[in-house]
Amino acid sequence: QAKELGRNQYRFFTESLHDQLQAYIRFSREMPKALETNSFILEYQPQVSLKTGAIIGVEALVRWDHPELGIVSPQRFISVAEETGFIVPLGRWVLKTACKTLKHLALHQMSHIKVAINLSSRQFRDPNLLTMIRQMLQEYDVDPACLELEITESLLMHDIGLAIETLKELQALGITIAIDDFGIGYSSFNYLKTLPINVLKVDREFIKDIPDHLDDMEITAAMISMAHRLGMTVVAEGIETQVQQVFLEEHHCDIGQGYLFSRPIELSKLMVLLTKQDAK
Ligand code: C2E
Ligand code: MG
Ligand code: MG
Ligand code: MG
Repeated sequence: QAKELGRNQYRFFTESLHDQLQAYIRFSREMPKALETNSFILEYQPQVSLKTGAIIGVEALVRWDHPELGIVSPQRFISVAEETGFIVPLGRWVLKTACKTLKHLALHQMSHIKVAINLSSRQFRDPNLLTMIRQMLQEYDVDPACLELEITESLLMHDIGLAIETLKELQALGITIAIDDFGIGYSSFNYLKTLPINVLKVDREFIKDIPDHLDDMEITAAMISMAHRLGMTVVAEGIETQVQQVFLEEHHCDIGQGYLFSRPIELSKLMVLLTKQDAK
């Protein structure tokens, strides 16, 4: 399956404009129907405490189980969904599914596990966002402290004043805010100064060449220490090797996420991992 995804991505980035337009038209037409037929899947990638080695949370990542194309990566359809506005109903489905999972975890005495979901810019600017989140938390009886929202810098550029207001209201509900893909966008430092953010996720771009690229190691160490000084928790994305894990542990990074620990997996497999961990 990983190979399949890799191939799709490769094809996506090399396909002609004509093919891209075809995919855009096809996806924008098919996605609403896919939601009705329950063809989207939420997978969960464990986040591991680098101090204890325990899974303390998961990031929820959406996939599309397409009748002809097989499993389609979000890298192919999220941008289309953003452009057409379909990201709003899809995002609602993701939040709802994540809340159901949180309820399921709580019923299995695993209410210490957090679930993080990704929010796109369009969703963030939706005036209904707060009401929708409040209702969903209530409907599934979810502890807001278990829900984390991942945002990116691009989402903040439209209207920084409104963004700060929205983030503060979300935090007031008890929700955790994480800044995703940190370090690859613009004016990162200014955002950190002005925004209410609890968690900083160092982008995989800085992790992937550790230990070969000394500059990446210096920048990563500096980002961790800066985030800590600002009172944030640090997650490193895309950890694939033990050398990377040890480097991050030595530099006091709090949480790790990456193929070294686990790929994104379906809920039943996550439950097996969590049950095993509890038995220890
Ligand atoms: P992201 O939020 O930065 O998620 C992390 C991505 O890195 C995921 O790709 C994950 O599978 C991948 N990854 C994790 N560990 C490793 C590793 O060790 N090595 C490598 N090479 N990759 C790793 P995925 O699932 O393909 O998602 C891609 C992007 O699609 C996400 O990036 C996120 O921006 C977006 N996305 C996924 N689900 C949703 C969603 O429900 N809503 C929105 N708005 N965006 C989503
Ligand atoms: Mg993310
Ligand atoms: Mg990320
Ligand atoms: Mg990334």
